[in-house]
Amino acid sequence: MAELEGLEFGKSDFVLLDEVNMEQFMENLKLRFEKARIYTFIGEVVVSVNPYKQMDIYGKEAIDAYRGRELYENPPHLYAVADAAYKAMKRRAKDTCIVISGESGAGKTEASKYIMQYIAAITNPSQRAEVESVKNVLLKSNCVLEAFGNAKTNRNDNSSRFGKYMDINFNFNGDPTGGHINNYLLEKVRILRGGSEEMLGSLHLQNDPVNYVYTREGATSNNDRSNHRAVLSALQVIGFSEEEIDSIYRILGTILILGNLQFETDSESVQVVGSEAVSHIAGLTTTEPDNVTKSLLYRTVATGGGEVIEKGHTEKEACFGRDAFAKALYERLFCWIVARINAVIEVKDYNPVLHGKNTVIGVLDIYGFEIFDNNSFEQFCINYCNEKLQQLFIELILRQEQDEYQREGITWQHIDYFNNQIIVDLVEQPHKGIISVLDEACLTVGKVTDTICLESMDAKLRQHPHYTSRKLTPSDKTMEFHRDFRIRHYAGDVTSNPVLKEMWPDGQLSITEVTKRPLTAATLFKNSIVALVDKLGCKEPYYVRCIKPNEMKSPVLFDDARCQHQVAYLGLLENVRVRRAGFAYRQPYARFLQRYKMTCEYTWPNHLMETDREAVEAIVTQHGFQDDVAYGHTKLFVRTPRSLFTLEQERAAL
Ligand code: ATP
Ligand code: MG
Repeated sequence: MAELEGLEFGKSDFVLLDEVNMEQFMENLKLRFEKARIYTFIGEVVVSVNPYKQMDIYGKEAIDAYRGRELYENPPHLYAVADAAYKAMKRRAKDTCIVISGESGAGKTEASKYIMQYIAAITNPSQRAEVESVKNVLLKSNCVLEAFGNAKTNRNDNSSRFGKYMDINFNFNGDPTGGHINNYLLEKVRILRGGSEEMLGSLHLQNDPVNYVYTREGATSNNDRSNHRAVLSALQVIGFSEEEIDSIYRILGTILILGNLQFETDSESVQVVGSEAVSHIAGLTTTEPDNVTKSLLYRTVATGGGEVIEKGHTEKEACFGRDAFAKALYERLFCWIVARINAVIEVKDYNPVLHGKNTVIGVLDIYGFEIFDNNSFEQFCINYCNEKLQQLFIELILRQEQDEYQREGITWQHIDYFNNQIIVDLVEQPHKGIISVLDEACLTVGKVTDTICLESMDAKLRQHPHYTSRKLTPSDKTMEFHRDFRIRHYAGDVTSNPVLKEMWPDGQLSITEVTKRPLTAATLFKNSIVALVDKLGCKEPYYVRCIKPNEMKSPVLFDDARCQHQVAYLGLLENVRVRRAGFAYRQPYARFLQRYKMTCEYTWPNHLMETDREAVEAIVTQHGFQDDVAYGHTKLFVRTPRSLFTLEQERAAL
């Protein structure tokens, strides 16, 4: 509830709006954006609007202003949230996490980097070398992951094509001791397409991305060369050996050459055009050219009798196989890089008895909702993931809040909100949900076509209020699909093309053992997201909600309709309502007493009241904010943080 800026900049906490409605919310958001106030609180949540210009608000001075201060003492800022998460972790030895959400280009990755820089800046005051080195590697890992996992898209020049969750571990001093990165669903297509000279770097290949099919559409910029040097140096700082760096380049080279491979069909079989490319790949992967050719032109299939035979690809299959192979190589390279970084930053030799409790701050930077004209399997996964995170948000911020008031017997006006559990169920319910229909279809590979699969999905889900499907008339002969399905996500409707072809994890296309069924890509993704949500669920969450002001990357344009849409689907109005109706702070009586008993003559050094609650009442009354609180069964609820602020000051002055 910071009120520290003049009102000409709008309300710095949406909780302070005269009335909570969309109109006032948008007016305030726009005013603040125009006045270069890109951050606004909703209680402890920070709403951020991408400024699309460099802001002078992240320097040392700002860091000093936020370090160790309470949320409401300073204007809204990422640093305020970062500090709150850090303080909660340090003071109460609690694991915390910062969840950054928003659509592509809204500023999530930039926010996550500022947060990490802030945490790095406020820790290790004694400059211990080993802690400095951990911090350095954690920060450098961003640079490497961005080089391999980001791409230029039409929505964002530096779009993360993977979800990232990073745990930072802290010792009892509150200094970083290590970390761990989880990556989610790398979208390869756009990376390969968006690859640049930077990626080609010193591949001993032709230096111009235009020469490679996979990178032809990518952007080259003047920065590519210096970026490439930065990535190389980051790899070295993290501890990649010369051989490892060389292997990375070899694999990248292989991928690019693969992309250029052409096939031709002569009288009876499919051949690779030209032998140089094959030898080049064989050289880069240190294998025999024959092996390369074989893996490109044949697949292994199981016959009805349980025999395993080699079957030649058609030209089309060979092209599909080539691209799937390239994508699989890229995916594996990326995962290997993440694993390698993890091995370096993993906390080693931690002895809880000697070193005290090891606590964690998690930072989640994950792709927001995506609605394209053509949505495929990857959008399906990304949007499902967002439903899960929205659900966690609803669960933690909205429901928990209401439930707690009820539990504590505090009079409370119920707030209605849209619970998206129904959409999550549509996707993930066992036996009934979309993923299970798709999994089933994958079990009968070869027999089930996209059409059959969609029909069976229709039969199961037709009645679902968030599911619809269409039959399309093919507008031209090459169009393979003539059915699709649509999920009514909370953020909007997303129509997916049939996804069957993309359901197998890359590289699993040739099944050599008849009985062994690999988990499908959808199930693997679902499992990883369920694990993520569990991980977040047991931490104290802090939220940054990012908004993209316009589609033109303009620092001056505030597109009302686009912004309002985002405010709506991020559930920000509900968030304000709950926050307003409710109480900003709460504390169990005993803990409150412990912290503030010295500020009141009736409670210091010990109180003579019958219960802690009565003692707390004495403190509250003595300080004159009895109208600002409610007494629950076990906790004191404080409406505005200012009351607590007074107590904190008094406590500090003693
Ligand atoms: P995606 O989901 O595609 O990865 P994102 O939400 O991570 O998108 P960012 O890459 O963080 O988006 O931001 C997109 C661009 O917006 C940045 O490259 C930068 O130019 C600009 N930007 C974002 N946040 C800020 C900021 N705080 N200050 C200045 N520019 C910013
Ligand atoms: Mg990003």
